[in-house]
This record gives sequence, C-alpha cells and structure tokens, in this order.
Amino acid sequence: MGSVRLREVLSRIGDVSASGRLPVAVFDLDSTLFTTAPRNWAILQEFLKAPGREALSKQVAALRAEDIGWNIQDCLRERGIGDAALWNELRRFWSDRFFTDEYVLHDKALAGAAAFVTACHSRGALIYYLTGRHVGGMEVGTVAALRSEHFPFWRGRCVLHLKPSFEMADAAFKDDAVADVRSYRGEVVASFENEPGNANMFLRAFPGALHFLLTTVHSPNAEPGDPALIRSADFLLE
Ligand SMILES: [Mg+2]
Repeated sequence: MGSVRLREVLSRIGDVSASGRLPVAVFDLDSTLFTTAPRNWAILQEFLKAPGREALSKQVAALRAEDIGWNIQDCLRERGIGDAALWNELRRFWSDRFFTDEYVLHDKALAGAAAFVTACHSRGALIYYLTGRHVGGMEVGTVAALRSEHFPFWRGRCVLHLKPSFEMADAAFKDDAVADVRSYRGEVVASFENEPGNANMFLRAFPGALHFLLTTVHSPNAEPGDPALIRSADFLLE
C-alpha cells in the first residue's frame, strides 16, 4: 500500500516537471528519514558506563535499540527499571547529548529512504529537508549525517531548513516554514512526517499533495492523524 503511493509521488514529480513547474517534496528528518534509535541507544550505553551502574546495566541488558520508543527514560520506567531520581538524571544526561552535532551521526536512514529521496531529486523535485533540529549546535552534524547515509545534498535543488533556536516550539516552526516552502512558487507534491500534528498541518496547507505519516514513533499525547494521511513504515518501493 505504502509502496504504491510512494511510486505515485515519483510519477507526480515527473508530471509536474514535464509541465514546466517545480515539484517540491518536503521531508522531516527525525523518525521520518532517520531512525533516532541508534542515537538514543548510544546515549544509554554511555550512561551505563559510569561507576556504580553495574546493577542497572544487568537490568538493561535484555533491551535492544528498537525497544526505545519516544525516549529512554520512559522505556526504563515502563519496565520498572530504576527510580524517579535515576530517570531524572538520565533525562538530563540524554538532553545534553541528543541535540548535538556529534550524536546525530549515530542515526541511520529508514529502509529505502535515501534511494527514494534520490529518485525524487533525479526526477526534478526540489528536496526540502525541514527539521526541528536547531541552528547553533546541530547543523554541521545534520549535513554530515545526510551525506553519510547517501541522501542528496551538495548537488543543487536541496534545501535544509533548521529551527532558528533550540527554544522555539517545533510545531510553531513548521507552521512558519510553510511560507518559506511557498516562496519557491513550485508545486508541493508530497510531505513526509512522523508527527501527526505536523502532517495534519501540511495536509491543510497543501491539500492537493500526497501527505505521508511515518509510523515510527511520535510524541506523547499527539493529536490524531487525519484519515487522509498515507501511513507508511518505510520508503521501500517494492
Ligand atoms: Mg520527526
């Protein structure tokens, strides 16, 4: 189902290109093009290395990177591992590392993601990477991660739009970014998001496009995704 709709995106890009207009495809990064599980996992392993955490390490030993959902401390809390003091300490340890150039390099592309974005680009789409990662700490690592996972970047028709500051709310940033997407005077063909609220916002902003909701992880208490969103677990075309 997802793959049929992904192929539809490619054919629409070809049609818009052939008509002389600029096709635009908007991609979120975290939990959309990239899985953040390896980043979370690396932070957890580093946390466990501190002296006195041997017993905790034994309790965590059965976990796998894929077990970490939205955040690490909830993953432990749900399994009854640790206590409130430990979860708070872990949360601080995590937030000092998660939003940094260095740690985003742990992320891996979702299955098929790099090939799909490359296919969109080679058919003429402007690739608009739109992420809540912030300027002033994540921009260099983000470019390095895009390149190391073979996403198109240094070849024209690729935009990378990061949040101007860490403090700005992601949803407000993405709402504002719609004006920038429109400024290219192209035709938005598709958007890809893991946060239902953001995907709903793109659906309202560009009703003629195909809007995908990646079924990876999303923030707690997220609003429901509109039934018109196309659910997909990956970017595989077969
Ligand atoms: Mg995301």
